Amino acid sequence: MIEIKQVAVLGAGVMGRAIAAHFANAGLTTYLFDRVPENELNRNILAANAKESLLREKPLPLFSSSLVSSIHIGNFEDDFHKLAEVDWIIEAVVEDESIKQQLLAKVEQVWNGKSILSSNTSGISVHKIINDRSTSFQQHFLGTHFFNPPRYMKLLELIPTKHTLPAITQEVQQFAEERLGKGVVIGRDTPNFIANRIGTYGIQVIFQAMEKWPFSPAMVDELTGPLLGRPKSATFRTLDLVGLDTYAHVVKNVREHSSDQAEITAFQTPVAIQKLIDEGALGEKTKKGFYRKN
Ligand code: NAD
Repeated sequence: MIEIKQVAVLGAGVMGRAIAAHFANAGLTTYLFDRVPENELNRNILAANAKESLLREKPLPLFSSSLVSSIHIGNFEDDFHKLAEVDWIIEAVVEDESIKQQLLAKVEQVWNGKSILSSNTSGISVHKIINDRSTSFQQHFLGTHFFNPPRYMKLLELIPTKHTLPAITQEVQQFAEERLGKGVVIGRDTPNFIANRIGTYGIQVIFQAMEKWPFSPAMVDELTGPLLGRPKSATFRTLDLVGLDTYAHVVKNVREHSSDQAEITAFQTPVAIQKLIDEGALGEKTKKGFYRKN
């Protein structure tokens, strides 16, 4: 059994930063790394900006600013050697199979042979992400799908592969339940796993309904929020929170991997979402999506 004391989160986007904060709040030594931005003098600017925004984000009292401040910032080029010291490395970069594969190939070069490895993918095949790596690396790897925002969402889906050592899955499950306050569900490696497959289908149906009836996003949020016992953020605010580019990756993943024609039709990227993406409006991360955030 590995005692999880130090963790590294790779990718300081919407999820990576919030997962890192959740780990820091749980008292773990936490590293947060991102890529080196092009033409940028500060090589750690992406991760540093992410931490800054966490400290500013509401509701602030739920995070201890001193704990969030303790997160160690780094980048994929200069700081990878630190990964040899940590007990769990979680990848949370953009939802793209080949980018995740390339990053894990780099991680393998510094891996200490013991630590837990995981991906926060929303639904790309966990087997495919890890396929080309060595057997022992694969044995320590699984999908760990946190939901957004990880501070509040209790669900954590674990997706072991056929190579994952049962002891690794058990270790993560126990740690997530006892230290991270999660309710763990172990799922199979199907496109978008369980909750996302169902959740995105519901959103797709709403877009189809909006083609027939003149609902605005605010009306949909009103109807699909507290009235149905769901949070106020409901449909469109959730899309803005998730990121419209990430949502588009997620529906594409089902479209490309389902063998069910009805499902392939149902998971077309909604025109309104594609239009916003083309305009660079990706939701809260660009301060503009279905709603504007000033
Ligand atoms: P994001 O777009 O906010 O951040 C993506 C991160 O990937 C950025 O920090 C970026 O610098 C990095 N990145 C982009 N291109 C890269 C490259 N070529 N090489 C290395 N790094 C690169 O994405 P996110 O919403 O944080 O999603 C991260 C992961 O978590 C994805 O797999 C996503 O599917 C999953 N996820 C997202 C949500 C959500 O609500 N957004 C929920 C659950 C899981």
